[in-house]
Amino acid sequence: MMPQAVADSNSTTGEVVAELRKRSAFVMVSHVKPDGDTLGAGLALGLALKRMGKRVHYFQQDPVPRNLRFLPDSDKVARDLPEDLPSDSLWVFGDMSDTSRAGEFLPPIDRENILDIDHHLGNSHFGRFNYVIETECSTGTCVMRLLRAMNVEIDAEIATCLLTTIMTDTGGFMHSNTTPEVLMLSAELMRAGADKEAITEEIFANKRVAAVKLLGRAIDAAKLDHEGRYCWSYVDDAMLQACRADGEDTEEIIGHLRSIEGVEAAALFKTFDGEIRVSLRSNGRVNVQAAAARLGGGGHFRASGLTFIGSLKDAAAAVEAALVAEGL
Ligand code: 5GP
Ligand code: MN
Repeated sequence: MMPQAVADSNSTTGEVVAELRKRSAFVMVSHVKPDGDTLGAGLALGLALKRMGKRVHYFQQDPVPRNLRFLPDSDKVARDLPEDLPSDSLWVFGDMSDTSRAGEFLPPIDRENILDIDHHLGNSHFGRFNYVIETECSTGTCVMRLLRAMNVEIDAEIATCLLTTIMTDTGGFMHSNTTPEVLMLSAELMRAGADKEAITEEIFANKRVAAVKLLGRAIDAAKLDHEGRYCWSYVDDAMLQACRADGEDTEEIIGHLRSIEGVEAAALFKTFDGEIRVSLRSNGRVNVQAAAARLGGGGHFRASGLTFIGSLKDAAAAVEAALVAEGL
């Protein structure tokens, strides 16, 4: 498959590749509460650039989640950056629709030095270079296009990072973004040595008992509204403490709420760390990206999120209204 220029992005593959070749130093930036896509995409591109003799750093505000620590180079991801970082370093933001998703610890960055690689709906094209392909299943497959265009060998480590992005964002090949093309790419990555066993074990199979207990509580607290089409629940500090769980243990809950028969939209309200993080999921009828955008968030048609400042009661009312406005 030949890499193509992409119509809905304002940079072509060729332009991005030329810039990657031109620069000598890079900072790969992933979003807060990182997932396998933002981190895997940054690590894959970082590893490839290093093999081309470039200097690469990885910036991420939050620590690497336990279940992603098997990824090569993930031990080099940090909130701190070296003092001698060249001023013309290219900052590569992966998997985020604007820079605020990277958190509050980034230094000011000249737009000239920003490459934005993403697959979200409504990406704000915040970089000098924007490689935004909404039809890609993951940011990692956007990176894969670039690696092919650069003729970089996809070795086993890079392949593991890329397959992680695909498996994360397709929910282990379950979501509707799992096209034949995605399966072909995945097969290619496995042939290149991607460690699918490790990905399955670390991300999908290996659950902490705290996470399973927390799932039980959240499901217990769930409500079904709108004749069973809307399922929502919450997790708060007391529930975390009772289960000896932390924020990373909440990942699976929203998928279970959405998977209940008849449910078209699901919401999970996480009321800890002094704010309410909301996750939204859809079965494909209601656009939860549009609903989240009404409240300052974003994401994809079937998976989105936002941060709400206020009480759980107000958050629940605001999210329900946003979903109703999008056809719930
Ligand atoms: P999650 O529910 O897993 O946190 O997020 C689901 C999707 O929505 C992800 O693709 C994520 O990038 C996006 N998302 C989550 N929170 C926000 C947010 O606060 N702002 C934006 N723009 N996107 C978000
Ligand atoms: Mn993604």
